[in-house]
Amino acid sequence: MNQPPLAGRTFFALLSTLFCLNTAAQAAEVNVYSARKEALIKPLLDQFSEETGITVNLVTGSGDALLTRLQSEGRNSPADLLLTTDAGRLYRAQEAGVLQAVASETLNTAVPAHLRSEDGFWYGLSVRARVIVYAPDRVQPEQLSTYETLAEPQWKGRVCIRSSGNIYNQSLVASMLAADGEAATSEWMKGLVANFARPPQGGDRDQIKAVAAGQCDVAVVNSYYLGGMITGGDTAEQAAAAKVALFWPNQSGRGAHVNVSGAGVTKAAKNHDQAVALIEFLARDASQQWYAQTNNEFPIRPDIPVSPTLASWGAFKGDALNVTELGSRNAEAVKAMDRAGWK
Ligand code: FE
Repeated sequence: MNQPPLAGRTFFALLSTLFCLNTAAQAAEVNVYSARKEALIKPLLDQFSEETGITVNLVTGSGDALLTRLQSEGRNSPADLLLTTDAGRLYRAQEAGVLQAVASETLNTAVPAHLRSEDGFWYGLSVRARVIVYAPDRVQPEQLSTYETLAEPQWKGRVCIRSSGNIYNQSLVASMLAADGEAATSEWMKGLVANFARPPQGGDRDQIKAVAAGQCDVAVVNSYYLGGMITGGDTAEQAAAAKVALFWPNQSGRGAHVNVSGAGVTKAAKNHDQAVALIEFLARDASQQWYAQTNNEFPIRPDIPVSPTLASWGAFKGDALNVTELGSRNAEAVKAMDRAGWK
């Protein structure tokens, strides 16, 4: 009696079906703020969309700009996921209160404990190692051992490294503060600064080029820059890269300094589950292999194969310090670098 006529019922059924489809379609997306160059992540995001039907909307910018944007947008931020290229900024994002803790057994299994925040606010997705490159015609590898020994007088006027304003150096110093303490690290920096071949200038690729050009004999750089110069197709960079060799520092001690690129779910996330699914996708073996190879970085687990270029550098031991400390000791590192006169 109270039933609408058949046509009406069909209409309502159709309407509710459409409504459900629409809701599902709206939910099937994830908004990513990424500090990673688009070309270095987009193909993987496309593959994620293809497999899951979840659309990925990508906003690319500098890590600091994206963090500022997240903070000013607050709870109204459209972002579900923040992707950065260093633990320091992930830590800053966590401290700024723009991330939320995620409980994922998949991620806790896939990402080694020292490469993620203890309470699930962010997860490392690739490993970046800071290494020593040297000129093999002027330096014997036997002369090299640790970051610490680069402060020895034998390296006077022979060391190239970029400025203290750079977060990679800040993170390296943070790791040394954790390993060696404040006094020894400050002493080390004074010795290192005294050994500079020139005032800090340029990026990591410029330090490699300076070694190749004979302006200095050793430099401290992230290894993926050397990998990028070897595989990037620029003949001048290839020629420069061919003139240097890579040395893994601190192998008989704590291991080479490592940082991570990584991701965290935003506090404002409206597509929480999709954001978690995307991090899980990026952490799985096949993605790890592609992601690390494309960026010339290392996978988060040593059992995942690396590219022939990276394999040619040999296996290495990375510092097992929790990368959280790179963030929590950043301010202390910056102050100590300043005191040591590292421009
Ligand atoms: Fe970089």
